[in-house]
Amino acid sequence: MEITKRLDLHGKTVLIVDDKLENLNVLYRTLSRHGFEVRCAKGGKIALRALEKFTPDLIILDINMPEIDGYQLCREIKKNNRLRDIPVIFLSAFDDVLDKVKAFDAGGSDYITKPFEVEEVLTRIRHQLELKIARRQLENINKELEERVKQRTWELTKLNEQLREEIKERKRIQKSLEESEKRLESILNSMEDGVWSISPDSLTITYLNPSVEKIYGYPRSSFFTNKSLWLDVVHPDDRSRVKEAFKAMLKTGSLAEEYRILRRGIEVRWVSNRGYAIYDESGKIVRFDGIIRDITGQKKAEQQLVHSALHDSLTGLPNRILFQERLQRAIKQRRRNPDYLFAVLFVDLDRFKWINDTLGHMVGDRFLQEIGSLISQCLGEEDTLARFSGDEFAILLENLNDDNEAIITAESILSQFARPLVVENHNIFSSASIGIVMGNKDYDNAGEVIRDAEIAMYRAKALGKGRYTIFTPEMYQENLKIIRIENDLRLALAREELVVHYQPIICLKTSQLVGFEALLRWRHPQRGFIPPDEFIPIAEETDLIVEIGNWVLAEACRQLGIWQKKFPHGENLSMSVNVVSKQIKNLQILDKLEEVLENTLIPGSSLRLEITESTMMSQGEDTTEKLQKLREKNVLLSLDDFGQGYSSLSYLHHFPIDTLKIDRTFVSQMTKGKQNLEIIKTIILLAHALNMDVVAEGVENIHQVKILKQLGCEFAQGYYFSPPLTAAQVEEAIASKKLVISPHKPAKPSSTRKNQT
Ligand code: C2E
Ligand code: MG
Ligand code: MG
Repeated sequence: MEITKRLDLHGKTVLIVDDKLENLNVLYRTLSRHGFEVRCAKGGKIALRALEKFTPDLIILDINMPEIDGYQLCREIKKNNRLRDIPVIFLSAFDDVLDKVKAFDAGGSDYITKPFEVEEVLTRIRHQLELKIARRQLENINKELEERVKQRTWELTKLNEQLREEIKERKRIQKSLEESEKRLESILNSMEDGVWSISPDSLTITYLNPSVEKIYGYPRSSFFTNKSLWLDVVHPDDRSRVKEAFKAMLKTGSLAEEYRILRRGIEVRWVSNRGYAIYDESGKIVRFDGIIRDITGQKKAEQQLVHSALHDSLTGLPNRILFQERLQRAIKQRRRNPDYLFAVLFVDLDRFKWINDTLGHMVGDRFLQEIGSLISQCLGEEDTLARFSGDEFAILLENLNDDNEAIITAESILSQFARPLVVENHNIFSSASIGIVMGNKDYDNAGEVIRDAEIAMYRAKALGKGRYTIFTPEMYQENLKIIRIENDLRLALAREELVVHYQPIICLKTSQLVGFEALLRWRHPQRGFIPPDEFIPIAEETDLIVEIGNWVLAEACRQLGIWQKKFPHGENLSMSVNVVSKQIKNLQILDKLEEVLENTLIPGSSLRLEITESTMMSQGEDTTEKLQKLREKNVLLSLDDFGQGYSSLSYLHHFPIDTLKIDRTFVSQMTKGKQNLEIIKTIILLAHALNMDVVAEGVENIHQVKILKQLGCEFAQGYYFSPPLTAAQVEEAIASKKLVISPHKPAKPSSTRKNQT
């Protein structure tokens, strides 16, 4: 409530204390009339009693009263907390200042002198009540203010506390920051890798950790004083690359480079350097940080690995992979520069397998190492000598002046083999076959060059070993043909392209048929007839010959079995089947023989195996034993093409041979000169002396027949009597009596013949 507004006095309670009734009455009436609620007390004691239960808004006190005067009463009232604030107006006849002072001293609020004016009393009452209210309001305001001050103070205290906490937290963070900085510092200091920072604008170094000193061999400070030192220490060959890489880092924001440095300016070390851009919030590069690591050890290990991947462990020479790589490079160079000449030599040792088998692998290995260094001595610094495998070496000659230089090198290598090589007290004689390819610009890849060099090497071997051959395109064509034949031959049996033809063998005395030689024929679907001389040597190179040979044996015996039963005197017919070295080598043929004889029911004595001299000579020390094993199956043995190969008469008696077949070249030469006739004569005599009978091959005319007859040769085969025939043709010839089967089984020459001329 505003104090300025007039106070509504209606219903306000007033206690009037006076010992004079008339005074009480006057005031009672006056005040009641003005809306006050008035209570009266005639004396102090009554007043005090009333005040025990009642709290008026205002008290009017007479000073002069008998029991307790007004001052006393006022003091009593003011002592009471509940009543203390009630304004007390003294009412007295005294108008002395002292009385008034006393009244105020006692706690009075105002003073009215009797006789009073009603208006004055009302005004003073109003005034006191308003004062009281104002005071109370003031008090309330005060209280409120106090509350606010209290609240503020509390808030400030809280704030203060928070601040203190924040300061504490900040200190803690500061401390932990300092700690992690220290930790980082100690990590950077203890790291083996070098750590660097550079500014993005001028690429000047702003930080280096201590390891940088170990890596570079320079104190850290020198990098700060000499701004180009970090680039100066890079190996001159790598410097421009490194410079470019750092320049690129400014654009790309990253660096990853491996290069060489010169530690302390002398020692070459490999380092790996990686750098990254560090950006601020706006995406601007603020610096580059990086790590530099010494990877010399790793590089060495890598180089070691690369070396062993590209070199032969036995000789330390480059291997095929490295050779091909260098050869490829040479081919490229040749294409760019037609004056650039190179050549490849393919070297294969001729007797290495024998050395390995007889002297052992240790000697074999040492021998190969010696050969490696022997060949190296014949080569120039630019040339590459590689070991491909086993006893195969390859040489790349580069920067030749002319093709002749390659030939000179080949000759000088071959001349190294003229003397024996001494390996662990063994004097080893050996030789090598060399194929040479002149690098010509038609070559696209290394594989082709090596392939041709190898083809030429095989040609050198075929021509008698211990020599060199220069590759020609025809060799390649021939080689291709051989490969095709080999591939087709694998399928020929299954496709039934192989057939056996039979050439009659005739008894010269009676001109009657005694047997056949089985001769293989191949009807190639595209290439037509392929002669056995062309495909049998190829089959011999692989193991195909065993399969094919077994088939011929079975087929020829099956046919003989039929004829023996079918024709009168058929049981007197025999069958000769050609076999080669590989079939006899492991005596694989024995099981087959047993099986065939069992299946066809022909007696073993009707079957002859034709073996050439060279087959016999290649069987090694136990040849006799092996031949004996064949003989145990009751089959007979013929020595085919006698006179073609070794023609050595001296060893003949060692072997259990039943028949000697004189090669057709002898037969054809027989009539041309006395000497040739003498040779045939001697052969027949010797054969008979050794209890062998003789078949003359390639008999083509009656003249030859007559002479052979005279010389006591028992049998003949040749176009004069009949070419090789199909089975059907044979049957036809027998049916038409063109061929007459001998009624007797041909007897072996008796020992008495030994004395015949
Ligand atoms: P070979 O065993 O000496 O066979 C005799 C060769 O002389 C046959 O040649 C035959 O056709 C031929 N010939 C026969 N009479 C005459 C003649 O009057 N004049 C001339 N100039 N030649 C005559 P073919 O059939 O071409 O066989 C060649 C070689 O192939 C055979 O020589 C033999 O070594 C081999 N061969 C043939 N068939 C087989 C076989 O089934 N297995 C094996 N391993 N080799 C076989
Ligand atoms: Mg033969
Ligand atoms: Mg022959």
